[in-house]
Amino acid sequence: MDIKKAKDRVIKLREKINHHNYLYYVKDTPEITDFEFDKLFNELKTLEQEYPETVSTDSPTQRIGAQPSEKFEQVKHRVRLYSLDNANNDEELIDWYNRIKKNYPDEQDIEIVCELKIDGLAVALTYKNGLFEQGATRGNGIVGEDITTNLRTINSIPLKLFDTPEELPDTIEVRGEIFMPKDAFENLNQRRREQGEQEFANPRNAGSGSARQLDPRITAQRKLDIFVYGAVAPERSDDISSSHYDNIKTLGNLGFKVNPDTKICKNIEEALEFCQKWATEKSSLKYATDGVVVKVNSLKKQHELGFTSRSPRWAIAYKFSPEEILTTLENVEFRVGRTGAVTPVALLEPVRLAGTMVARASLHNADEIERLQLRIGDKVYVKKAAEIIPKVIGVDLSQRAEDSKPLAYPEQCPSCGHMLERKEGEVINFCPNFMGCKAQIIGRIEHWVSRNTMDIDGVGGSLIKQFVEHGLIKDPADLYQLTKESLMDLERMADKSAGNVVKSIQASKDRPLGRLINALGIKYVGKETADILGQMYSSIKSIENASFEELEAIEGIGEKIADSIINYFKNPDVLDMIDKLEKYGVKLKQDIEKVDKSKPLLNTNFVITGTLSTMDRKSASDIIKDMGGKVTGSVSKKTSYVVVGESPGSKYDKAVSLGIAVLDESQFIELIEKLQAGGIDEVNE
Ligand SMILES: [Zn+2]
Repeated sequence: MDIKKAKDRVIKLREKINHHNYLYYVKDTPEITDFEFDKLFNELKTLEQEYPETVSTDSPTQRIGAQPSEKFEQVKHRVRLYSLDNANNDEELIDWYNRIKKNYPDEQDIEIVCELKIDGLAVALTYKNGLFEQGATRGNGIVGEDITTNLRTINSIPLKLFDTPEELPDTIEVRGEIFMPKDAFENLNQRRREQGEQEFANPRNAGSGSARQLDPRITAQRKLDIFVYGAVAPERSDDISSSHYDNIKTLGNLGFKVNPDTKICKNIEEALEFCQKWATEKSSLKYATDGVVVKVNSLKKQHELGFTSRSPRWAIAYKFSPEEILTTLENVEFRVGRTGAVTPVALLEPVRLAGTMVARASLHNADEIERLQLRIGDKVYVKKAAEIIPKVIGVDLSQRAEDSKPLAYPEQCPSCGHMLERKEGEVINFCPNFMGCKAQIIGRIEHWVSRNTMDIDGVGGSLIKQFVEHGLIKDPADLYQLTKESLMDLERMADKSAGNVVKSIQASKDRPLGRLINALGIKYVGKETADILGQMYSSIKSIENASFEELEAIEGIGEKIADSIINYFKNPDVLDMIDKLEKYGVKLKQDIEKVDKSKPLLNTNFVITGTLSTMDRKSASDIIKDMGGKVTGSVSKKTSYVVVGESPGSKYDKAVSLGIAVLDESQFIELIEKLQAGGIDEVNE
């Protein structure tokens, strides 16, 4: 091949590669396979190696390759990058709009553009005569850092613009936001986790950290992306189109990646709708967004409105209420729960998050501390999901003090000093000192008096603490032998209130069996399981005597729970407490097995197979569920009935082989009608 031919081929290849690169990274609509793309790319690379005079900086082969630098050079921005004022709620956005409208009394509405605000790193990209020349971070808006070599590695940033229109100025500066897509973030963190490296707290940290790597080869691996949202022409002191929205469209036509969800809104109502829509739907996006940027569309109006000293008057950032926030980890407290589990709790510098003040957050367990590699004094990200206690989700390493030390997980119980134990396969450390650990005793008694269990009014945390500290009680049973006199020594305990406390404890003696079982605080036995046991058994004694096999066969009770119940009743301290409860007159049995008449199918499990002729499966299921029964998808020994319609599947065969009662449709309807008429009390025998 002669040099002329080689040059022609190189140009052709570049055009092709740029085109497919654009389809893949910018439009997300690839037309060729990765294999075909690689073939083109390799051909270009080989040709350029063979004919070095054909290489130019805008070649797609030249994206990566620069050597690591010592530090980033400072760049003075040609046109200042302003920051935006924030609107923290609808009212503030409406106020902003009304302020603008005042300037245009003759106009009914002001056209505005809504763009999703990308939670990333703001950059300015300079193009000269269609070629990418320089990329800089926003910095303080006046001076930023030159990260050109890193930005060149981002495939959605064009190195060369598409055919540029005549009127386009020689130099344009394009503004955008670099971000790391959520899936790239997850993958990166997973890799770091596997390699024992510190994870990034969120996509914003990961994206901004990756764009500012001194080694561009690392940036190239991080799968960064960009959305551009504006351009200025420094030499001409005007913009490249007549409206902001047209500006964005022009940028798209030049080969830039613009956000497809950007929308023109006729008035503020439409803008508010946009904000509300994305506040709820943002999780469906492939990238993180923390709000909406709202701008006046007309560039003429933008010029008229101008800037304050800090920000443009014609734009504002509407912030979604944050789900996570940065605050200082002041300390970590290790709490001993009623089961002896020792769990770390983060004590935070109080901070407002989603409408409430947050000062404590869950850390779950030792593994979590290890994963986060937390240190006291760290700036940590705290996240709050609806109705869940806040959680520490990450650390901002850039703000870590040099002299901070890793957190040590205690080896001894912070309450009683006993050596902690960790069972095989468990992530939580336990204090095994069941009867001697005050934290556990207090926890068990707090659980005993709580609303879902024995519901003892007027006995709260501080009183229980006093009971235990003064040696008045060692277990919940001791509550029932407390007398007015024995309480009189306690702080702030007057004659009358002591009387009330004793009265309300005594009043809890005949709670239903299910509540009592829940109150015992057996590991893994919560309210639901306790209620099931309360329905299946007539007394605590009969549960105590139940075999593992018997317990395990109950629907809703698996191996783990059955095992825990068996172990619980092996503990002599527990048996001693149950004896005391009986002695003090706490009701430990129910006279007859109580069956809720409105729920005659309680603890009855159905499987429906085949097609029913008088109703669909959904209605049949609803009827069963209304009457307290359960409908499951597969037949097991816990199944009570299999309802069989037309052309049943293998479930029928399985029912027969397991000897489970089979009902055809008419038998099923007959059963339901009888139950509804109150003809039979119970079917699960
Ligand atoms: Zn302890």
